[in-house]
Amino acid sequence: MNIESIDSWNAGSSHPLIIAGPCSAETEEQLYETAKAVKAQGVSVIRAGVWKPRTRPNTFEGVGQEALQWISDIKKELNVQFAVEVANAMHVEEALHFGIDILWIGARSTVSPFIVQEIADALKGVDIPVLVKNPINPDLALWIGALERLSQAGVNKLGAIHRGFSTHQKTRYRNVPMWQIPIELKRQYPDLPIICDPSHIAGKREMVAEISQVAMDVNFDGLIIETHRDPEQAWSDARQQVTPDSLGELMSKLQIRKSSSEDIEFITHLEELRTQIDHADREMVEVLAQRMQLVEQIGAWKKKNNVAAFQLDRWNEVFRSRKEWAESLQLREKFITELFNLLHVESIKKQTEVMDKLESEGENKTEFGLRVEK
Ligand code: PEP
Ligand code: MN
Repeated sequence: MNIESIDSWNAGSSHPLIIAGPCSAETEEQLYETAKAVKAQGVSVIRAGVWKPRTRPNTFEGVGQEALQWISDIKKELNVQFAVEVANAMHVEEALHFGIDILWIGARSTVSPFIVQEIADALKGVDIPVLVKNPINPDLALWIGALERLSQAGVNKLGAIHRGFSTHQKTRYRNVPMWQIPIELKRQYPDLPIICDPSHIAGKREMVAEISQVAMDVNFDGLIIETHRDPEQAWSDARQQVTPDSLGELMSKLQIRKSSSEDIEFITHLEELRTQIDHADREMVEVLAQRMQLVEQIGAWKKKNNVAAFQLDRWNEVFRSRKEWAESLQLREKFITELFNLLHVESIKKQTEVMDKLESEGENKTEFGLRVEK
């Protein structure tokens, strides 16, 4: 993919790029007042949903084209840029007609290659920044596929928005961040700017600052933050929008990390620590291999005695004791539980593999094809 640097389209070249504004454009006054207050906090790219992709019908679905005229007037009045979500070719056409500066594709659209292709086709020959939100499900290939469709249509001012992934599990997030997915995207496409949307990850305004800081800690290129002059009264996503004042406070507290440092003392100490990590990982892999060998022996022993691969009592005991050990070493319980679940699945696989192998070898050895159990 041919990706232009974010500096080529981030007008103010502010780092990180901050986009802020309401979830939805509701009235001309609400939009103007919010944009003005956001600008007063030093933000010059305003977001506003004009067409709202709502999960359920009969909720507010955006005011549509009328809001584009408001945006066009406010842009002139306040000298700001606007970012708007598009979900089909008609949206693209109208947004371009009204001079929108940045387009984004929503999470519910990224999941559909047909929709993304339609948008990409409508953008052929148009030089405008396009930001692609991750699909609602944690599917990196689908996210990359959407970016590729735009890239193939000639969109070079490309960026990604990380807005978290929906899950059936109850978590403290509205959409779980799964940071490893956008980080993997960055690993595969180092030039692709990634902007975090802490509002849709959080689902509640109290968590927006904390998530924004994580995004800075992992070196994302910007933030898109839902901001409303009166969040409680918002027509959509009222729980997660912040006031322009809280936006200002959040920005002033944000610790911006450097992507690297040339400082020799920093580099030397980092190298030392990385060498130690390499050793620790090497040992960990060796211990895992030893554990698997023991698992194989257990598998063979159980097979010989015709005992099943899985015993509930033993497993409960393993879990209980490992969690206890972990706690005494200040390791998080959830982390250890997930790790041992993985180990357990792999161990059962290994044991059944060993058992099946011995079974078929045993079968080969018997005369007349009869199975001899022990
Ligand atoms: C939005 O940005 O208001 C929105 C609808 O977000 P998402 O596509 O991430 O759900
Ligand atoms: Mn929203």
